[in-house]
Amino acid sequence: MEHYYSLNRYLKETFGCKVYKLALDGGFTCPNRDGTKGTGGCIFCSDSGSGDFSVPVGGGMDTAIEKAKQVLARKHTEGRYIAYFQNHTNTYGPVEKLDGLFRSALRHPEIAALSVGTRPDCLPPEVLDLLEELNDIKPVFVELGLQTIHEDTARLINRCYSLKEYDDAVRRLQERRLNTVVHMILGLPGEDGDRMVRTAEYIGRSGVQGIKFQLLHVLDHTPLARMYREGAFEVLSLEEYTRILEECLMRIPPDMVVHRITGDGAKKDLLAPLWSGNKKAVLNHINSCLERDGIRQGARFIPE
Ligand code: SF4
Repeated sequence: MEHYYSLNRYLKETFGCKVYKLALDGGFTCPNRDGTKGTGGCIFCSDSGSGDFSVPVGGGMDTAIEKAKQVLARKHTEGRYIAYFQNHTNTYGPVEKLDGLFRSALRHPEIAALSVGTRPDCLPPEVLDLLEELNDIKPVFVELGLQTIHEDTARLINRCYSLKEYDDAVRRLQERRLNTVVHMILGLPGEDGDRMVRTAEYIGRSGVQGIKFQLLHVLDHTPLARMYREGAFEVLSLEEYTRILEECLMRIPPDMVVHRITGDGAKKDLLAPLWSGNKKAVLNHINSCLERDGIRQGARFIPE
């Protein structure tokens, strides 16, 4: 029995072959770091802008794509690729820069689609015009880091945009038929399982096409690391994470694509939870629990 609608299945159905993501660093920053919206960034975000494994495109797009393919080559041999602009806020810059960068990625014959990680408050009309135009050339995914719907947690993590801005961005992205993927984090300080499930439910009802579940990682050299060392919060155990994830999966629509059921940060900086360092064992545990508990995505989804 399939417990959730995985990205792998969606990509196979859409492209007819295996498709892998190539993590690229377009050299952007973030309005939450440069003082426009905030300074210091979200408390969990590493200096790389949550893109610890990506390849900089500064030396040319084709070279970066080849390098990113080599990073994957140990695990995968054939298929097509998604150019995934991951680090920081990839629509935060002049539209001419975005245009040049994204088009040069899409021109590559092995690139099947574009994926752009950004913030809801960085999607002005001219950027949406560009993404809509590119979406007619090859599919475009827009990834939004919402993390939580709860405004007090949003303040605590220094996200520096409101839920209203998220709602507004989703509406504008859907008007343009742009495939939208929303990230949420399980285990944020001060949040219990019930709060996390409400975030999943909200995303499930917000009309987007995909969701990414991430475990909160405490990475060294982040404000979160300081809080963790001061004992301000505790991280989730694998059992707690799995239990909450199961509940979240049941509360989202059955046809919503699940892009991730956990995440991974750079091991050299990982302070907690240490169990997350063994990704294979984590996935095995989650999958065996989903099987044991007979979990079905959407089983408890109630549309508004
Ligand atoms: S918005 Fe994204 S890139 Fe910017 S600080 Fe927060 S997590 Fe990092």
